Amino acid sequence: MNLILFGAPGAGKGTQSELLIKNLGMTQISTGDLFRAAIKGQTDLGKKAQEYMDKGQLVPDSIVIGMVEEVLKKGVNNFILDGFPRTVAQAEALDNLLNKMTLSIGKAIFLEVPMEILMDRLTGRRVCKNCGAVYHIVSKPTKTEGKCDNCGGEVVQRNDDKAEVIGTRLKNYQEFTSPLKEFYKKSGKYIQVDGNRDTAQVYTEIEKIIG
Ligand code: AMP
Repeated sequence: MNLILFGAPGAGKGTQSELLIKNLGMTQISTGDLFRAAIKGQTDLGKKAQEYMDKGQLVPDSIVIGMVEEVLKKGVNNFILDGFPRTVAQAEALDNLLNKMTLSIGKAIFLEVPMEILMDRLTGRRVCKNCGAVYHIVSKPTKTEGKCDNCGGEVVQRNDDKAEVIGTRLKNYQEFTSPLKEFYKKSGKYIQVDGNRDTAQVYTEIEKIIG
């Protein structure tokens, strides 16, 4: 089944995607990760995206949609869309793309997490510059400070997880992404999952939904 995982920044989309990849062999399509890879590779796409990302703003729809189209064209299946769509225009464009490619989405899972918890998760989040592993200074610290447990890479705070940028990201989420709940309710694909629990508990529920 192809899935959409959506929710506010820090809701746990990436963490749950990792588990779905590991346990069910699903393929993750994370637009945030694709942009970060493009920035690392200093491509034109990366340069354009970075201007928006560093300020906590959404990358324009046309850029994001074009990027996702390229990935879908490669013939993926059993995939999780993580962080896409993030606007109603993106959701409509996705429907068109999927129709063209005779693909479909089984469920759009919304991870619900209260705002004050999101703030704490985002300000404490740290990531490995090398392999992308995600840590939290309180709930999941690295064994050695600043060093990734998996690969020994440098563990840092994402530019857009700095306190001054988080406010913009959460505001944009409310304004542009939150309306997707209504969009997917209308399509009958919407399912809400309480994301303010243990990672394992959230995962068990998602696995049940997938069936
Ligand atoms: P994420 O890793 O999903 O939190 O994404 C990091 C940043 O990448 C976001 O704050 C946006 O600037 C950009 N981004 C990722 N996905 C999208 C999207 N679907 N639409 C617009 N911007 C996006």
